Amino acid sequence: MQDDAELRESLVHRLVADGVIRTPAVAQAMRTVRRHRFIPAVDLPTAYADESIVVKTAGNEVLSTISQPRMVAIMLELCRLEPGGRVLEVGTGTGYNAALLFELVAPHGRVTSMEIDAGLAAVARATLAAEGYAAVRVLVGDGATGMPALAPFDAIVVTAAADEVSPAWAEQLGSNGRLVVPLVDRNVAVTLERRGPDIVTVATVPAHFVPLRHC
Ligand code: SAH
Repeated sequence: MQDDAELRESLVHRLVADGVIRTPAVAQAMRTVRRHRFIPAVDLPTAYADESIVVKTAGNEVLSTISQPRMVAIMLELCRLEPGGRVLEVGTGTGYNAALLFELVAPHGRVTSMEIDAGLAAVARATLAAEGYAAVRVLVGDGATGMPALAPFDAIVVTAAADEVSPAWAEQLGSNGRLVVPLVDRNVAVTLERRGPDIVTVATVPAHFVPLRHC
């Protein structure tokens, strides 16, 4: 039976072989962050399978999931982060992706993650602290309008599907900053980049996410 480090290594190996992980930084982040700690209810092989896992439901409605590692890697590559970068995540969920983002911008970068569900935010905050990511700021609130007080960001990554690209997110991008956002009706995630005064679309990839909720 493989231990958790071996399971992470196998997962990274597969995502590199498939061309999903393209940079050493993303490979190293996914090798480092212990995904199983963010989903303690499942066994180790399940935690490192390339699948999304439902984390919270209300009746038949899925409120929160931990994204499929493949999708996480694709979005991390699209963010094109460097050490020292400033990132806003919308939709903390378990906190797993926030930890990965922190690995990419550490030690001097800044990760802020917004979660609308206070219960999920509290659990994510505790897990992040226990795993050595106390520097990640988890804020309870509706991320639809971003976090203007902490802008500009080098990347804004939305991990729930939006009806449209909120102008607030685009406005909070710094120079060459990137916004990655899944869209509900198109089942894709679009990546926009600020180039001077313009915002241009640089990538569109298939993506299925739980919808953003509004207060
Ligand atoms: N990034 C997460 C996956 C999150 S699933 C991970 O790595 O585990 C999407 C999350 O977005 C859910 O937890 C949901 O509660 C949250 N969410 C939904 N609408 C939101 C909103 N308007 N603002 C902030 N978070 C929201």
